[in-house]
Amino acid sequence: MIKRLFILGFTLCFATLMSAQDNLSALMPMPNNIVSGKGTYLTLSNRTNIVCADKTLSFAASELHRILHERMNLNVSVTGRSTGKGSILLMLDSSLKGMEHYRLKVGSEGITIAGRSAAAVLYGVMTFDQLLMGDNYHSSHCQIASVSIDDSPRFARRELMLDPARHFLPIKDVKFYIDQMVKYKFNVLQLHLTDDQGWRIEIKGREKLTETGPFYTQAELKELVDYAAERAVEIVPELDIPGHTVAFLHAYPELGCTSNDTVPKVVGTTTNMMVCASVLEVYTVYKDIITQVAALFPSPYIHLGGDEAAVSKNWALCDRCKMTMKMNGFTKPEQLMILFFDKMLKYVREAGKTAILWCELDNIYPPANDYLFPYPKDVQLVSWRNGLTPTTISLTRKHGNQVLLAPGEYAYFDYPQLKGDLPEFNNWGMPVTTLRKSYEFDPGYGLPETEQAHIVGVMGTLWGEAIVDINRACYMTFPRAFALSEAGWTEMKNRSWKSFKARIYPNLTELMKKGVSVRAPFEIAGVGE
Ligand SMILES: [Zn+2]
Repeated sequence: MIKRLFILGFTLCFATLMSAQDNLSALMPMPNNIVSGKGTYLTLSNRTNIVCADKTLSFAASELHRILHERMNLNVSVTGRSTGKGSILLMLDSSLKGMEHYRLKVGSEGITIAGRSAAAVLYGVMTFDQLLMGDNYHSSHCQIASVSIDDSPRFARRELMLDPARHFLPIKDVKFYIDQMVKYKFNVLQLHLTDDQGWRIEIKGREKLTETGPFYTQAELKELVDYAAERAVEIVPELDIPGHTVAFLHAYPELGCTSNDTVPKVVGTTTNMMVCASVLEVYTVYKDIITQVAALFPSPYIHLGGDEAAVSKNWALCDRCKMTMKMNGFTKPEQLMILFFDKMLKYVREAGKTAILWCELDNIYPPANDYLFPYPKDVQLVSWRNGLTPTTISLTRKHGNQVLLAPGEYAYFDYPQLKGDLPEFNNWGMPVTTLRKSYEFDPGYGLPETEQAHIVGVMGTLWGEAIVDINRACYMTFPRAFALSEAGWTEMKNRSWKSFKARIYPNLTELMKKGVSVRAPFEIAGVGE
């Protein structure tokens, strides 16, 4: 193992030496507007001040302080008032257009990082860090090249998803993951909190839900939400219904369908069970759960799953559900989804939130011509099944739903990165998603602007069946998340595989130095394109 790590490290260092090192060589994602200076350098020293008058920018200021210490061995002061030439000014600027819009200017007079919001200023600081990282030589001499960057993202929502339901991830590991997300301007972490393999969120008064395994207390989640918010990351909770509910049914066996009420519900083993659509108590319990979860997470969204519901093995065989179908004049058991989500979505609305669902079409392979059931307009849908995203973009536009893109073929980071690579277990014959493939993702699919206006962003998913811990999660995430960060942030005209390939290495080396597991993409080294 030690030998293997050494070889990886050597490969990375070698590749780093081979690529040109300048202030633009480690930018990730690539900013949308860069004007390089005329080869002049600003020299910083311990007399340099970080000037930051706004309390909401104190985290950005402390990050900047850390960066100057790590990259230049400086120990500068943070002050509220300008002390003249050569200082680094952090400020809010309400004249900037988007909420994440920032401007970063390095000139002979000093450095200014201005943003529309605290998040935007923090992104300016992250870009500043990458300028220093790329130009290692000058940074070690406390010099920084003049440059002017005016940057804002292509998409508002740039998400990653972790699945602690399948393999639990302690809070400290989720925080570690958030630390890495912010470097690449990801602003949403979705947590898949419930599934067949576990129920990971404390629900007050319903302690039996969490009896079968580790879980997050509400106090821990509150702390996590605050930690994430400081780093401009919003946490979206997911409670998967009506399928993926074995852990729920283990606690409430009477809330399944009559067809499976004698079947044992073994958490982690039993699959394909659903909560019954026709028992009033299902709705009473979930109303309580949704209300508690809504109060816990400040995000305007709650994800309710809605995917892979084995209707034919549950609702279609259930005496109560058959009766409900008859009473409503339904001809197909899938139509019970209308009734089921009619109630569940009402609880989400009453809690002041917007629901997200995984988009299911009337077939899982093309041609899939329409929604599985008529999703209400106020539901945000996620496109995920391999090959169906162009259809989903077109259907969501037609039906008036917002859509978030997590196409399996580009953004499923639980899939292997190369044939024969990890995961070595629970691999159900997953397709391979190479780094190159991830990079080819254009969330707009080349469509005219008007036809992509309802696309809110991108999400990389790490389904947890084969992801035992945070090291594995990070190994599967990086470097493919670099590609996704650029898909979400950078306009297509500013993207290129050749440029991206060179910018990977300093960032991978940096992550390794911080103890983050990464995969070295040896297959692209030396391939001229
Ligand atoms: Zn039923």
